[in-house]
Amino acid sequence: MRALLLHADRDLRLDDLPDPPAPGPGEVQLAMRAVALNHIDVWGWRGMAFARRTLPLAVGAEGVGEVLAVGEGVAALRPGQRVVPYGGMTCGTCRPCREGRDNLCEDVAGVRGFHAPGFAQGRLNLPARLCVAVPDGVVEEEAACAGITFGTVQHMLFDNARLEPGETVLVHAAGSGIGSAAVRMAKAIGCTVIGTVGDEWKAQKARELGCDHVVNYNLDRFESVARRVTGKRGVDVVFEHVGAATWQGSLLALRMGGRLVTCGSTSGVNADTNLMMLFQRQLRLTGSFGCTLRNVAEGLGKMAQGIRPVLDTVLPLERFGEGLARLESRNVFGKIVVTL
Ligand SMILES: [Zn+2]
Repeated sequence: MRALLLHADRDLRLDDLPDPPAPGPGEVQLAMRAVALNHIDVWGWRGMAFARRTLPLAVGAEGVGEVLAVGEGVAALRPGQRVVPYGGMTCGTCRPCREGRDNLCEDVAGVRGFHAPGFAQGRLNLPARLCVAVPDGVVEEEAACAGITFGTVQHMLFDNARLEPGETVLVHAAGSGIGSAAVRMAKAIGCTVIGTVGDEWKAQKARELGCDHVVNYNLDRFESVARRVTGKRGVDVVFEHVGAATWQGSLLALRMGGRLVTCGSTSGVNADTNLMMLFQRQLRLTGSFGCTLRNVAEGLGKMAQGIRPVLDTVLPLERFGEGLARLESRNVFGKIVVTL
């Protein structure tokens, strides 16, 4: 089988590997069909000091495959079925796992494509319990965006921020993979969406995507726009993943009792927080990382209802590195997907 392996920092090679053995008890064997790119792939590709990993390592943290074979005791899946594999190698037995809070697993063995072999390989055995069936009507390039992108946004907006119909939400980097998904999910329940972007071409696309208000943060202060369009009240929810560059503005954009949920810090990990503002304005700040298996299924369900991921480009596997370079440069609107 073909596998795209990271041999050293920024050194990706398409290699031939032997096929995996038949799936063991409780496992399925997948033929991988497509992989979607995320910033976690860029971190892994650049080389991250904290990553415990052994190179070469198959890349790809989010994807979709078809079940080729099932091992003993697997009743829920059958060959030919398309599934989204969960990227966290959870234990399945700790209390958070048993309660369906998979992303809080106390004994996770790693994240696929980052610490452990990822999805950019022809075939892969993995536990059937970590596979989520793809509904009919969802194409593979879109389903490839469920495991991280749609799952993460579902978890952030609905489990963590408890976004309600009719509320106003500020979505940072509305042209990013998760930002564009957040805009679509929030618009689908009738929210007012303010999107931030860093380029004029992205501003136009963000309007086409459905943002009610778009702020180019290089030209305007987004917190001022957030106050203005809410009649000085502030927004109900801020969808954060930019970090240091936007943190203080994001807090200022919130209404009394507003909720901020963050899953990233691409512009830097340290930022000041005015504690008096935090308690007097009774803000709620929530950290969010990844999602649960239920969130992946919910994300796929939304795709089946027509809430689809924004696809920037679909590339062949050979061009995965080119996709990473574009993601790193931020010259992208929506998701980059590679097909196997
Ligand atoms: Zn666990």
